[in-house]
Amino acid sequence: MASERPPSPDPWRELKRRRAIMGCAALAGLALFLASFPLARALRTDKVLYAGLLLFILAQVWGSLPLFDFRCPGCGETFVHDGRWRRNAFTRRCIHCGCGPGSPGRAAAPGRTSPGSERG
Ligand SMILES: [Zn+2]
Repeated sequence: MASERPPSPDPWRELKRRRAIMGCAALAGLALFLASFPLARALRTDKVLYAGLLLFILAQVWGSLPLFDFRCPGCGETFVHDGRWRRNAFTRRCIHCGCGPGSPGRAAAPGRTSPGSERG
């Protein structure tokens, strides 16, 4: 019986959790790749190195999938990619509106005016 995780009240905490998943997957993939070197030497074949490299790449892709699904609390768009060419899994600011962890949303984004100042 799988239990569904309730949505976090702080969306930036959810971003941090997804970044941690990506980091753990990257480290696990790197460990598998590095472990393939002595195994390849012991078995005297390069195929183990290619398998280790493939596992490294698959761990990177799998680990980054939750991060690429994250929606910006400020604008509602995807946080780390724009759906076309711009993508940065290591960005600290939304690729669309520029808001980031610690900011309440659109109001704190650089280059944007706060909703209260637009009435002016
Ligand atoms: Zn945004």
